[in-house]
Amino acid sequence: MKTLMLNENEIAKAADILKNGGLVAMPTETVYGLAANALDGSAVAGIFKAKGRPMDNPLIVHIADLSQIHLLVSCFPEKAKILAERFWPGPLTIILPKSDRIPDEVSAGLDTVAVRFPSHKVARQLIAASMPLAAPSANLSGSPSPTNARHVYDDMNGRIDAIIDGGECAVGVESTVITLAGDVPKLLRPGGVTVEQLRQAIGEVVIDDAVMNPLSSGEKASSPGMKYKHYAPKAKVILLEGSAEAFIAYVNAKKSDGAAALCYDEDMGRLKVPYIPIGHADDYEMQSHKLFSALRNADEQGFRTVYAHCPKTDGMGLAVYNRMIRAAGFEVIEL
Ligand code: AMP
Ligand code: MG
Repeated sequence: MKTLMLNENEIAKAADILKNGGLVAMPTETVYGLAANALDGSAVAGIFKAKGRPMDNPLIVHIADLSQIHLLVSCFPEKAKILAERFWPGPLTIILPKSDRIPDEVSAGLDTVAVRFPSHKVARQLIAASMPLAAPSANLSGSPSPTNARHVYDDMNGRIDAIIDGGECAVGVESTVITLAGDVPKLLRPGGVTVEQLRQAIGEVVIDDAVMNPLSSGEKASSPGMKYKHYAPKAKVILLEGSAEAFIAYVNAKKSDGAAALCYDEDMGRLKVPYIPIGHADDYEMQSHKLFSALRNADEQGFRTVYAHCPKTDGMGLAVYNRMIRAAGFEVIEL
């Protein structure tokens, strides 16, 4: 299959592809999404095939107008209304009981559906010109998510119908996922909307164990995506927990082993190994923005072992931590 490269002015062409059951990668404010008609099970099945995604990992449905949610869910409770009012359009996904219009491929057989209203202009125009779109991140399953069109092309050329180039994604990590389908609102994946902001809006929000810890064997994932190895480059990633001085000393001592570092901007001058900066230590937004690109960059440079700081877990730090710890296969060294 030939993959068309489209620009932001070719939304109508992309919408036609979607109406014919095809697959289009689109920019969003979080990461690039691989979209298909959310109400067409066989179109959605194509997403799983193109990504090599396990069929038991459900997809997020993207809307461009709040009225579309009633097509997708069987109820829209007060807390969902508050979150929608406060954070949509934006990087928040809300899980609710699904309507019977949702194909099994989208919900992976669950009785819930994940819904998001993105803020990116191109994503909104594409949905408005077509229909609600099911879209996971537009990478091969298990790889770091794509934050620009070239990343998508590298993974998906020849596997999908088209890619719309909308430049770099602003947020850089996937949406925050919260479920309102249980008794207490629960954070399943941290992202651009922080748990502190969610609690301010609706009160109690618990954090699913799998956000920070590996699932123990036999444990059932509340978000199926969390049970898979994720976001991992080919390079081995190892997290180091300790002071900046300890980090620099440890990594420099590994120079002869061919080590490289994902480092904070202020550490660059003191490192004796190749490094990729990801922002200042306290700038979690910048770290989110650069993380996936940095992981892909590590592979492009052929690094085999990459040491990174173990992130803090307040604010958007939790989103960085959640991705890094999975990219590192939960390997953390205390210094
Ligand atoms: P991605 O498509 O790469 O952004 O991944 C979507 C994430 O949302 C995955 O971790 C899914 O497991 C999760 N997800 C989607 N729908 C549901 C659902 N109905 N219940 C729980 N998790 C979901
Ligand atoms: Mg993904």
